[in-house]
Amino acid sequence: MDAPSHRIGLPHAGARLTVDLDALAGNYRLLRDKVKPPARCGAAIKADAYGLGLVHVARALAAAGCSDFFVAHIGEGLLARQCLPTSAAIYILNGLPRDAEADAEVAGLTPVLNSLSQVEAWSRRAQKHRRRLPAVLQIDSGMSRFGLSPDDALRLATRDGWRDLLDIRYIMSHLACADEPGHRANAEQLASFRAVTRLFRGIPTSLASSSGIFLGHDYHGHLARPGAALYGINPVPLQPNPMQPVVQLSARVVQKRTISVGGSVGYGMEFTAERPTALATLSIGYADGISRVLGRSGCAYFNQQALPIVGRVSMDSVVVAVPEPIAQMVDEESWLDIIGPDQSVDSLARAAGTIGYEVLTGLGVRLDRVYLQRPHEVLPPVLARN
Ligand SMILES: *Cc1c(COP(=O)(O)O)cnc(C)c1O
Repeated sequence: MDAPSHRIGLPHAGARLTVDLDALAGNYRLLRDKVKPPARCGAAIKADAYGLGLVHVARALAAAGCSDFFVAHIGEGLLARQCLPTSAAIYILNGLPRDAEADAEVAGLTPVLNSLSQVEAWSRRAQKHRRRLPAVLQIDSGMSRFGLSPDDALRLATRDGWRDLLDIRYIMSHLACADEPGHRANAEQLASFRAVTRLFRGIPTSLASSSGIFLGHDYHGHLARPGAALYGINPVPLQPNPMQPVVQLSARVVQKRTISVGGSVGYGMEFTAERPTALATLSIGYADGISRVLGRSGCAYFNQQALPIVGRVSMDSVVVAVPEPIAQMVDEESWLDIIGPDQSVDSLARAAGTIGYEVLTGLGVRLDRVYLQRPHEVLPPVLARN
């Protein structure tokens, strides 16, 4: 990762998150190419683009050709609106609280309507302002989290009037077990979703997120909504990861010492040395997203060598044991990888007993965030017009 970089955050920070925007764009193209036209491929950029930085990620995806963006909350939608082309569609997955409707309408955000009462509220607004308002209609196909029940959907489909008020861009649903291709819930949810979409003939559909894209064309509908896979998380956990890594997380060594037999480390003195042990203290802790669980199971890496975390993870630091001959090569000012070529987001998550999604969205605000993006080739004017 030695391309020209654009820096924000704290250049002298103890830890650095490097986001490869070219790898992100490559991942977007891979997913888009799996979703055959006329289906399109959007992107989930909720939760600050899974912790990587909504503004940079949204712009890079728009430059790669993405024009449909999913966020969870209205505030994320308003931020996305400020940094995306006006032609971009921005969908609010969690729906709108009543007092956010005006902001959403003014900013041209598209709410996902998750209940009959939300359909009614958005219709009333359309009636009052005498304009048809855009929306996505979510159906609960089995996850019991968001969306109209199939019964409510049937009630709505047979009701008059609302179609003149609402421009339903997509009927959507969400899969509970898409990362387990053999799970019977996938086919059941697809069947339940199709039964409802038949009631709303002519309206395009949206079903697949990252893993759903890999379940095959039946699941693609007209608009896919990947998030995790864009950011390098493996969408097919039973197979090798088809995505490029996007994230590197490195921490600075701020102290080195060697303890003798019986010496202990950290709060609660949970680690006690059985032999003389070289230690390095890293300037990263649970405030930066390093789970305390990793005190028993985590590693940092230097030159492909795993350096086990010893003792408890502190708020601002962790201590790793540095075996010979690596101890000779690591000094104060060295950088060790927590996520990188030797430890993927997914393997760090496994060590912490969680999933890559939680690791990325838990990354702290104090990290120096560095964005890599190679300068784009400027095409000669004639070619550029085509
Ligand atoms: C978060 C989310 C997505 C993206 O899911 P990934 O597994 O990250 O691809 C898509 N749709 C909905 C409704 C979501 O909540």
